[in-house]
Amino acid sequence: MNNKKNIFQQILSKEIVTDFIYQDDLITAFNDIKPQSPIHVLIIPNFFIKTLNNVNYKHELVLGRMLLVASKIAKKKNIDKSGYRIVINCNNDGCQTIFYLHMHLLGGRKGNNIFF
Ligand code: 5GP
Repeated sequence: MNNKKNIFQQILSKEIVTDFIYQDDLITAFNDIKPQSPIHVLIIPNFFIKTLNNVNYKHELVLGRMLLVASKIAKKKNIDKSGYRIVINCNNDGCQTIFYLHMHLLGGRKGNNIFF
C-alpha cells in the first residue's frame, strides 16, 4: 500500500506551506502554484477523494460547498460580474495531474471555448 501523501494532502497538513484563501470544516481553497489566469484558485475537500469518479451521495454536502465557496471567492475577488470558469479534471483524458479531487476557479481575463 502506498502511504505517501500527495501534494494536496501535504498542503492540508501544512507540510507544504501554502496560504489558504478559505477554510471551513469541509473544504480548503488556495492559489494554484502555476496560475493559468490572473485568478486561479483550487478548492479541495478536507478529506481524500481521488477523482470525481469516487464521489457518492455522502459527498453531496462537500461538493455543494465547493461550488458555493467558489462563487463567494469569485465575488470577493471581484470577478463575479466579468465572469469565471469552474473546472474539474478527471483522469487522463480530463488532464488530471493531481489525484486528489479539486475544483479550479479561473478568471480575471476572457477565456476561450476550447476544452479539448
Ligand atoms: P489538475 O491538472 O490535476 O486538474 O490540476 C492540478 C493543479 O495543481 C495544477 O493547476 C497545478 O498547477 C496545481 N499544483 C500542483 N502542485 C501544486 C502545489 O504544490 N501547490 C499549489 N498551490 N498548486 C499546485
